[in-house]
Amino acid sequence: MIEIVDAAACIACDVCVKVCPTDVFDRGVDGIPVIARQSDCQTCFMCEAYCPVDALYVSPVSGPVGPESPHADAATVTRAGLFGGYREMVGWGRGRTSGALRDRNPLLKAVPPLPESRLPAPSTVADTPWNHTDG
Ligand code: SF4
Ligand code: SF4
Repeated sequence: MIEIVDAAACIACDVCVKVCPTDVFDRGVDGIPVIARQSDCQTCFMCEAYCPVDALYVSPVSGPVGPESPHADAATVTRAGLFGGYREMVGWGRGRTSGALRDRNPLLKAVPPLPESRLPAPSTVADTPWNHTDG
């Protein structure tokens, strides 16, 4: 659940306000987003992933952690290097390799026969690996 906006790092770009699927943020008068409806957060991490300056922290806990929790303490989160930690993990941001390029899951090249006749089956969906750069 969204826990912290680092107002000092925020550049008031509004991206998090726009990408949040459940309208958790309000734009503050100074442009810094305000967590206005925390209970509507669905812990999707999209705001953190899109923030260009790593000014957000979404806790991996799906409910509010409470004021005593280290997940709600900006200094602790900063020391742990977790502002924008999800963005870093998925490889978004300059100089990083995206998670899609690092993915090593088995490649799906065809779908099994379907019970309905609406789609031909099996259907080849890829002749070559489409999610790996090195084949
Ligand atoms: S984690 Fe998802 S639902 Fe929660 S504030 Fe961020 S974008 Fe909105
Ligand atoms: S995306 Fe980041 S920099 Fe932009 S308004 Fe939100 S917190 Fe601030």
